[in-house]
Amino acid sequence: MKKIAVLPGDGIGPEIIAEAIKVLKALNLPLSMETAPVGGAAYDIAGHPLPPATLDLAKNADAILFGAVGDWKYDTLAREFRPEQAILGLRKHLALFANLRPAICYDELTEASSLKPEIIGGLNILIVRELNGDIYFGSPKGIRSAPDGLFAGAREGFDTMRYSEPEIERIAHVAFNAARKRGRKVCSVDKSNVLETSQLWREVMIRIAKEYSDIELSHMYVDNAAMQLVKAPKSFDVIVTGNLFGDILSDEAAMLTGSIGMLPSASLDKNNKGLYEPSHGSAPDIAGKGIANPLATILSAAMMLRYSLGMQAEADRIEAAVQTVLSQGWRTTDIMTAGKKQVSTVQMGDAVVKALI
Ligand code: NAD
Repeated sequence: MKKIAVLPGDGIGPEIIAEAIKVLKALNLPLSMETAPVGGAAYDIAGHPLPPATLDLAKNADAILFGAVGDWKYDTLAREFRPEQAILGLRKHLALFANLRPAICYDELTEASSLKPEIIGGLNILIVRELNGDIYFGSPKGIRSAPDGLFAGAREGFDTMRYSEPEIERIAHVAFNAARKRGRKVCSVDKSNVLETSQLWREVMIRIAKEYSDIELSHMYVDNAAMQLVKAPKSFDVIVTGNLFGDILSDEAAMLTGSIGMLPSASLDKNNKGLYEPSHGSAPDIAGKGIANPLATILSAAMMLRYSLGMQAEADRIEAAVQTVLSQGWRTTDIMTAGKKQVSTVQMGDAVVKALI
């Protein structure tokens, strides 16, 4: 029996998580699911966005299914009590260092993209972003009086980009292993023409690639990658990159599809234990209205089966069911177009359950 910690969170979180659980239950898998509050919901009950009991549940689980956190009503709280701190806390305490974000454009939804259908139709790429290192966490950093240069004495902000070899090695393994479950191509994105950190990154990628002779490795500078994502996104299979470049490229890739309610994500540790959540936020503007799109969360549950629980066939079944409901014309409001059948959050979950074969 695999243990799943279910953390619905705030806003539309509980509504979309309920649909993902419905789909998992319909598959009759050996899963035990226990729910705990997180984010603003946890702050209201326990005075902290990530209470010890929730963290313990997450630590002892095989995987975490996470809804979303955040609401404008918590914006005036001190930073450590804001709902979003729960995600950062979970990443830190569970050592989740690899963020996997697929960008998939279903043929039925090409009109939601700002790109031409022939460029975007059938897109299926995966961005693997390192989450724990890079310029976001490197020290020293700060604001000081500039010690030298043309503007010596002026206030200057500075940060440090750094990656150690083991950090690059472990994200490389995640990317190569993910590519084995897909199209067997990895494109490593860096800025090695300018940055020392990127030169080491590229060197390590080339070395680790030797352990994966079945995978084709290529390299691209980040500025070119940003252009190619818009020009020829289907030329990629897996993109692996650092925290800063991945932050930007994964949002760019997500937006290519045009449907934020459709995109799942995973954050993994070194043993493939992971936290699975939709790429979107808690959407407080539509919470409680029963109109949120649950498909990103349902697809996150499919990723959980594939990457943390080794249930590949069941993951495929969920993804095929989502494809089926889209071909049948079912749409929540965010992806609704003329001639399609508009459904509520619950009806969309029901349609996916019915489409499971
Ligand atoms: P958001 O992603 O919550 O919403 C952006 C827009 O997309 C809104 O109009 C919303 O209605 C719509 N939307 C999002 N998900 C949808 C879905 N499943 N179905 C239909 N429509 C959907 O981003 P935001 O409005 O910038 O942030 C709202 C709150 O979410 C903030 O408190 C923010 O901090 C938080 N947030 C949390 C996470 C997370 O939990 N991982 C991520 C991003 C933002």
